[in-house]
Amino acid sequence: ISQKFSGIMRSLSGKSKISEKNVRDAVEEIKLALLDADVNLRVVRRFVNGTLDEALGEKVLSAVDPGQQFVKIVYDRMVALLGDPEGQKLSLRGPDVVTVILMMGLQGSGKTTTSAKLALRLKKEGRRPLLAAADLVRPAAIDQLQVLGSKVDVPVHVLPGASDPVKVAVDALARAKREQRDVLIIDTAGRMHLDDTLMTEIKKVRDAVKPDETLFVADAMTGQNAVSIAEEFEKRIGISGVILSKFDSDARGGAALSLRSVVGKPIKFIGVGEKPEDFEPFYPERMASRILGMGDIVSLVEKAQETMDIEEAEKMQRKMAKNTFDLQDYLEQLDRMTKMGGVGKMLEMIPGTQGQISEDDIDKAELKREKAIIQSMTYTERENCHIIGPTRRKRIARGSGSSVNDVNRLLRKFEKMRLTMKKFAKNKKYQAEMLKQMGI
Ligand code: GDP
Ligand code: MG
Repeated sequence: ISQKFSGIMRSLSGKSKISEKNVRDAVEEIKLALLDADVNLRVVRRFVNGTLDEALGEKVLSAVDPGQQFVKIVYDRMVALLGDPEGQKLSLRGPDVVTVILMMGLQGSGKTTTSAKLALRLKKEGRRPLLAAADLVRPAAIDQLQVLGSKVDVPVHVLPGASDPVKVAVDALARAKREQRDVLIIDTAGRMHLDDTLMTEIKKVRDAVKPDETLFVADAMTGQNAVSIAEEFEKRIGISGVILSKFDSDARGGAALSLRSVVGKPIKFIGVGEKPEDFEPFYPERMASRILGMGDIVSLVEKAQETMDIEEAEKMQRKMAKNTFDLQDYLEQLDRMTKMGGVGKMLEMIPGTQGQISEDDIDKAELKREKAIIQSMTYTERENCHIIGPTRRKRIARGSGSSVNDVNRLLRKFEKMRLTMKKFAKNKKYQAEMLKQMGI
């Protein structure tokens, strides 16, 4: 999916003109890519129609850089679809109350492993978790949790000979209170398929311990299947959040997209390996970038948009093409660059510039010095740097508290920059990005 997406995105983002047909074609390809990644059909339809409306409805087609605008629309929609700023985090109660977390899901989805992962994570955050072995169906399940528990150094509550998971859960809760544990994680049994017995059993556990979180663990590889199962759990038990396990085996994101959209519950964590520490919070932005296969381009676009509007870019573009970019323009760009911050980081993100401009070329102190130098020039000098002879250089150096050498260096650099700009101005693909980001 990512490969397809990045292809679509790349083909559009470089274009300075796109037609309605371009947009429709791209959206059609997005649709196929999503279906290919096993994303639920309803979700795909909604996503695709929304994207199409927005892309054709706004002034995208007439924008300076319609390709990039389009990419941004797709990305924003993807983030919105995947994320839930409110519900991303676990809701944990104060340390003097026991937070109860109930783990649910099919057999083999990763409940037991994930219980230990969660316990480890909470422990690292300074909590005092207790694990409860309430999967009494699989004989080895208790052992498995005990082994994992000792690995992460979290106690596991076991009731030998018990046959009722409710009993184990209630007993574990009592122990948690007694031993001043502040989180109880209850591992439950799963079945190969959804069945009434399983549901009734978990419901009883739920009613007995009143969990703060009911987490549905879904195997990232199961795709569509996971969605219908999650819907069932949501209907019968209620899901407060989803954990996607085995994300290391299938990072295409189809399950993430579908689950999120169909079940409507936040994805809180992802499992990225078999070890207890292979566990991460779910970041919708990261996931969206990964799905779209476009690295950090979008955040770059966003950053640039904050500080520079489109007309401004247009103006610069004309100046660059006509080679009338002067020191006053450069000064304005310097202001912008200081505002944006992290110039080095930005450079890395611009495709094709690796190695061409190094961070040394634009370190902060130098930006400041250059600004001071230009500010000491008259407007005539800024407009036409060729009139700046030795006498003027001396005056400018004195006025800006720098040396003649500094002034010389700036003027040399500026000349070089104008040459580069002229070259870039002819290169459609990088032009807009270069302009927006750097103004050089
Ligand atoms: P349960 O039946 O739902 O309790 O599932 P388990 O926790 O027993 O996990 C089933 C299998 O999946 C085990 O072999 C785990 O090691 C494996 N597993 C669980 N989570 C992950 C994960 O995030 N990545 C990988 N690669 N394997 C996982
Ligand atoms: Mg298990």
